[in-house]
Amino acid sequence: MVAKIISGREVAENILTTDLKNKVIKLQSKNITPKLIVILVGDVKASASYVAQKEKFAVKAGIESEVRRFDNSISEEEILDEISKINNDKDIHGVIVQLPLPDHISVTKVLNHIDPSKDVDGFTPTNVGKLFLGEETLVSCTPKGIMQMLASTGIDLNGKNVTVIGRSNIVGKPVSILCQQQNATVTMCHSRTKDLNHKLSDADVVIVAVGIANFIKGDQLPDGCTVIDVGIHNINGKLCGDVDFDSASKKVSAITPVPGGVGPMTVCALIENTILAAERISS
Ligand code: NAP
Repeated sequence: MVAKIISGREVAENILTTDLKNKVIKLQSKNITPKLIVILVGDVKASASYVAQKEKFAVKAGIESEVRRFDNSISEEEILDEISKINNDKDIHGVIVQLPLPDHISVTKVLNHIDPSKDVDGFTPTNVGKLFLGEETLVSCTPKGIMQMLASTGIDLNGKNVTVIGRSNIVGKPVSILCQQQNATVTMCHSRTKDLNHKLSDADVVIVAVGIANFIKGDQLPDGCTVIDVGIHNINGKLCGDVDFDSASKKVSAITPVPGGVGPMTVCALIENTILAAERISS
């Protein structure tokens, strides 16, 4: 079997330049331009490249984005003050704090300080709680992007078996809830799961977010399943995911590549959340 490659790059480009661009044009006719603020502390190389992609996608959709850079020496209080100012600025609709933060700053305190209506990363307890309850909210970006990518394949999750490997707060847990909301039967796996291969054996969809390069091989995957590879690793200058693409792509019916899969969809979802926040705040 030769797997279909699910190109997150193409799906994201399509969403940005059609749906999202049109929504921005509508908002602009009411004199509103969605505006995203990215708070970047220190000089982390990986953060800088994510931020560059966010700016590129913002331009494609026609929203404003601004990066506020701070030195590593910034205090927790100063960051909280900055967020308070953003919370109170009616011309700003979304804010994210690029992680990691220096050790002297509490990530929990900082994220919890963001006004949930501007929390376009969907990390505040309010937005996580709403997601859990199935209420309308700003859904965190990677899970949201994964669901959009699955939708783009035409797969109907109703009654399907989805195996999620990884239970992080930013990927595994929220994506499992979103799949359940679409009536999938979800199996959650983690580092203590016994007999992972058995848990994979009847999966229609496998979502892998473990953070270990090439962790899942083709022979562990059932014939014809759809694979979403969330992982991203730089091994000797070459990017790869949590799934061994070469062996998996011979076994499954569809798979996301790394790079060009979940990554662009995550950034696209961030832009979409900023537009959604602007629509909600302005109405
Ligand atoms: P994380 O917080 O490190 O969580 C990893 C999860 O994998 C944990 O739940 C852990 O289980 C589980 N795990 C570890 N070893 C395992 C094993 N041997 N068998 C089964 N499960 C195992 O990771 P994350 O933040 O979800 O990120 C995962 C990967 O996705 C990383 O490579 C990250 O860089 C990437 N990522 C990419 C994007 C994107 O936009 N492309 C976004 C977010 C993350 P325990 O809970 O038991 O420890």
